[in-house]
Amino acid sequence: MVGIMADMNDARAALRQYFGYDGFRPGQEPLIDAILQGRDALGVMPTGAGKSICYQIPAVLMHGVTIVISPLVSLMADQVAGLEGNGIHAVCVNSTQTPEEQSLALAEARSGRCKVMYVAPERLDTQRFVEFASSLDIALVAIDEAHCVSQWGQDFRPAYLGIGDFLNRLPDRPVVAAFTATATERVRRDIVNLVGLHDPQISVTGFDRTNLYFDVIKAVPTVKRQWIERYVTARPDESGIIYCATRKETESLAADLRAHGAKAVCYHAGMPPEDRHAAQRAFVNDEAPVVVATNAFGMGIDKSNVRYVIHHNMPDSIEAYYQEAGRAGRDGLASRCTLLWSDGDIATRRRFIEMENGNERLTDEEAQAVRNRHRVLLDGMIGYCRTTSCLHQYITSYFGETGTVKCSGCSNCDGEFETIDVTDIARAVSRCVHDVNQRLGAGKIVQVLRGSDAQEMHDWRHLDSVPTYGMLRDVPAARVRDVISQMTSDGYLAVAEGKYAVVVFGPRAAETVAPDFTMTIKQVSRPAADDGADG
Ligand code: ADP
Repeated sequence: MVGIMADMNDARAALRQYFGYDGFRPGQEPLIDAILQGRDALGVMPTGAGKSICYQIPAVLMHGVTIVISPLVSLMADQVAGLEGNGIHAVCVNSTQTPEEQSLALAEARSGRCKVMYVAPERLDTQRFVEFASSLDIALVAIDEAHCVSQWGQDFRPAYLGIGDFLNRLPDRPVVAAFTATATERVRRDIVNLVGLHDPQISVTGFDRTNLYFDVIKAVPTVKRQWIERYVTARPDESGIIYCATRKETESLAADLRAHGAKAVCYHAGMPPEDRHAAQRAFVNDEAPVVVATNAFGMGIDKSNVRYVIHHNMPDSIEAYYQEAGRAGRDGLASRCTLLWSDGDIATRRRFIEMENGNERLTDEEAQAVRNRHRVLLDGMIGYCRTTSCLHQYITSYFGETGTVKCSGCSNCDGEFETIDVTDIARAVSRCVHDVNQRLGAGKIVQVLRGSDAQEMHDWRHLDSVPTYGMLRDVPAARVRDVISQMTSDGYLAVAEGKYAVVVFGPRAAETVAPDFTMTIKQVSRPAADDGADG
């Protein structure tokens, strides 16, 4: 780009002038700096951390218009209004507008008066828009919710796959900056590859929510219920969300809580819309401070004083868990996120995955790949339930933040669990993975180690030459499986996707043969139903 490039001093001045803020937050500076220097960027920050400013400041400082690709058509008008309120001229183009409104918005962008233009990804596919964009002086293309490009994320949106093509069709490739709140290592790789980011500045920050206390309790269903009843009724003045796996469960638990005197409503997608809205209103207004809901609840609900989020069942991924648990403590005050889980939850989740047929248009192989992805996500969640290390640390590492966090409160660091030594089992697993040349799935490895008599074991020609066959004959299958899943989340093992999910060595595999290697897993968690209620 010609002309004098803006630098971070200009950026700070713009931050004050347009937004009235005195300084940048941790992750913002490196991203803005990179963009201003003409380098692509990838910003990974949780919702509310301030991603928008990372493209809005460059937008006002750079020559030309910034195109923001956003999947949230319903929020575009709000975003435009927000920018206009700060004195930044912005428009949006989307299918909810009349053709006249659309033409008007496009004309504003072409005139050079407008600095920011929001569009939905579907529009990029049309020849008309490509031609229009080719005639513009584009400073920057910012991609909001960039994880939608990845089938590894939760919100895959096929139109996002067209972004790379769109960029390639432009006569001059602009600077490209992608933003997302939820990105594991794998999703990040997809964003870089599928959008085609060039050597981007990557910044992952802000995932730790220091005002949240994380709590994991293993308990059977009846104990879970008692625990929740005690916890909720002990805090009549606090607002909380309780997530359940099924609609039926939300109804019966809400009824139970009401019978115990709590002001609780229930919410799920099967309720008539007017009942749902009424429940939501009652919750937001604190008439019913407790809501018992399925995961249908939460999107777009802005309630800052939620003091606790309890999960009655284990969600299917850390992404889902953190999004739901993260609805606690938006006001920054101390709040608690408790996950209750049981072996039954794992079995149920696994069964769901096995039953998934996904989209009918998928080939068998593709459907298998989808199932494998879901298995990996689930393993991350199981790892959270089983880990004996800091839960804050587990979450931030999961999202790719490097470095250690100082625990601001979790049940693991408070030592509320017992561990058992599984070093020998882990060593045997590791050896077995080696024996079978990293070619078998977890289920088969368990069978080999336990000396299974299944016919397929005998059909397997080299069984005699597998030294670990039958080595863990006396260990329950569930325990071996637990150890494999813990080893996977700790990085000793990994799961390779393909037609079948196969257990392979992870980056830390070599540690398992070191003489001082030890491994523990959680045995039983602390007795539930009691003093969680004092926390
Ligand atoms: P995200 O897109 O990551 O969800 P937003 O960009 O909407 O987050 O920012 C969340 C809030 O934080 C907004 O009210 C925004 O104005 C504010 N914010 C962003 N950056 C800063 C900053 N450097 N200092 C103070 N407030 C900021």
